[in-house]
Amino acid sequence: MSNAPEKLAIHGGEKLRKTPMPPRLAFGPAERQALMEAAEYYAGRDEDPPYQGRYEEEFCRRFAAYQGGGHADAVSSGTASVFVALAALDLPKGSEVVISPVTDSGPLNCIIMLGLTPVVADSAPDDYNMGLEQLASRFTPRTSGVLAVHSAGQPLAIDAMVEAAHARGIKVLEDCSQAPGADWNGRKVGSWGDIAAFSTMYRKTLTAGASGGLVYSPTEELYRTALAHADRGKPAWRKDLDLRDPGHALFPALNFNTDELSCAIGIASLARLDESVAARRAFLARLCEELPKASRVCRPSHLDPGCSPFYFPVMVDVDAISCTKTEFARAVAAEGIGLGEHYGCLVSSWSFAKGHLSDGFDTPNALSMRDRSFNLYVNERYGEQEVRDVVAAIAKVEAWYRR
Ligand SMILES: *Cc1c(COP(=O)(O)O)cnc(C)c1O
Repeated sequence: MSNAPEKLAIHGGEKLRKTPMPPRLAFGPAERQALMEAAEYYAGRDEDPPYQGRYEEEFCRRFAAYQGGGHADAVSSGTASVFVALAALDLPKGSEVVISPVTDSGPLNCIIMLGLTPVVADSAPDDYNMGLEQLASRFTPRTSGVLAVHSAGQPLAIDAMVEAAHARGIKVLEDCSQAPGADWNGRKVGSWGDIAAFSTMYRKTLTAGASGGLVYSPTEELYRTALAHADRGKPAWRKDLDLRDPGHALFPALNFNTDELSCAIGIASLARLDESVAARRAFLARLCEELPKASRVCRPSHLDPGCSPFYFPVMVDVDAISCTKTEFARAVAAEGIGLGEHYGCLVSSWSFAKGHLSDGFDTPNALSMRDRSFNLYVNERYGEQEVRDVVAAIAKVEAWYRR
């Protein structure tokens, strides 16, 4: 009998999980069938799939209904959806837009490329999501907008943020790319602010095939302005104009149209979004029950009941282990668990952004969160076996490294 900890896979020991974690398969049977049906539909009519065709119309109508009303336009990428949404807000050139500390780089680049000044706000302590106080402390007389990202699929306390912003005449764009289907106080994220952007690229929980995005607004006026920004300034809603004549454009704009085949896939993905979100929530709820029973080093981060999990930060007590957090996470990964050991999506850590940000504020809460956590990957095919394996892999690794 021996109490010696088991040799870790990272040191050449046997891997705890022998089979890969379940792959996501966003392009599943229903999505493939929808794609084929759309191809057949156009073949049967002897037509080529156009811009703004019946599948895009249906995808947008269903998505707006899913959001609880309002209007949606499908575009070519998530970055395009942020660009179009931000352009539609028509903020004064040179004014400041406060952005969340944790995001894809696309949204930051949209602020810069629209001639606005990005101001990074910090997250709440022990969280990747921007905090209300942290947001409000970055408002200045030049602030015109907030680009609020629902990071990791956890909903922001968006009602209070919108209230604080609107009280100062500041517009709010919600980036819901990582949180489609999440709700806050019983209402879908994306429906609280003035306008919202969603990526539907292949890794996101709602996906329109390879690349795509959705712009959503509760108000028709902003939706129309966004529509024009998504397609060369065309007032697409005006049936009295010959829109083949570019001379009718309202202003110069680029073309961010998407296509019918992507939208057909998006319709199928939207039809199973609630199921995908529920499965992800259930997996994490079980993990949050089991992990504290087996670990003294790791604990779950905040899990909101209205979340639409994209990935899940697991907190590591770095004082309780004899290695770095990153080495610890790499050892868990080597046991066969899918995770990201050092998160790169922190605005304040990007050197390319430095000269563009309003100041050198380095978002200490977000950095501290990154340095004390790793991101567990999550998808709707994870179940009870994955709960057991994640917990067992962490327990195995901490038996080795615990001080
Ligand atoms: C993925 C993502 C985007 C960009 O999406 P693309 O479709 O890859 O352009 C924008 N914002 C956030 C928060 C994202 O996670």
